[in-house]
Amino acid sequence: MLEDKPSFKEFAIEEFLVRSEPYYRAVGDELELFEAAYEQHIPVLLKGPTGCGKTRFVEYMAWKLGRPITTVACHEDLTASDLVGRYLLDANGTRWIDGPMTRAVKAGAILYLDEVVEARKDTTVLIHPLTDHRRILPVEKTGNIIEADDRFLLCISYNPHYQSALKDLKHSTRQRFISIEFDYPPVDVETEIVAKESGCSDEEAYALARLGDKIRNLREHGLAEGASTRLLIYAGRLMRQGIAARRACQVAIVWTLSDEAELQRSIEEVVHSIF
Ligand code: ADP
Repeated sequence: MLEDKPSFKEFAIEEFLVRSEPYYRAVGDELELFEAAYEQHIPVLLKGPTGCGKTRFVEYMAWKLGRPITTVACHEDLTASDLVGRYLLDANGTRWIDGPMTRAVKAGAILYLDEVVEARKDTTVLIHPLTDHRRILPVEKTGNIIEADDRFLLCISYNPHYQSALKDLKHSTRQRFISIEFDYPPVDVETEIVAKESGCSDEEAYALARLGDKIRNLREHGLAEGASTRLLIYAGRLMRQGIAARRACQVAIVWTLSDEAELQRSIEEVVHSIF
């Protein structure tokens, strides 16, 4: 049972340190690569499908490097002002409020722009000077230029499967980053992750990992995205609460992945071949 008392916490961006070690199971040499890039001030692009561990990885790296982390989920209405800051009018007149990017640049945080291609084009004007040797943030409205703290790093993520020709990351932008490719982990590693994150048994976790693997092979049959590690974990968590495996997979995976009856049936068949 959840306790019936408020339990939220609020942090200023500069103070949002990852305090305890997040669980991150490395799949390749991504830890070394990120650390080397950080030391060398090279911005990092994380490529990969949804729910495969990109955000968890950045959180882990922020913890390892002892830096605050600022995450901005980009969307089509996100403008440069949302990132840099704006003037606010209050009873005492106007005052300037730094946006999350400005605060991260000053605090030497790791700034993680999630799904960066979703943001409006004017945000590239900010990314470019921050990602070359200058490491500066021009704040147009105040007329200031901020040199980034030495410990600042820009990290962006991008899901190549979503992109259309219209919404691709431009080469003039992407060639400012090193790119680390992520994918769903192999079955044995995913078993470990699902067991650890959901608390279900090792046998159940292995079955869920095999299920994920099989469903990802349905992609050619019209499924836009396979089941993410996140969804497998959700199913495991429901099972841990006593929900029957087939039902847990139905609500966590089948109905989440598709609205089309035929496709749902195909996924359900895969579920029934395992559970
Ligand atoms: P993304 O940012 O790629 O959409 P997340 O980082 O949010 O995905 O991953 C979704 C969930 O999957 C995480 O909350 C975590 O529970 C789990 N996960 C995925 N990969 C790993 C990994 N390598 N180590 C630990 N947990 C992982």
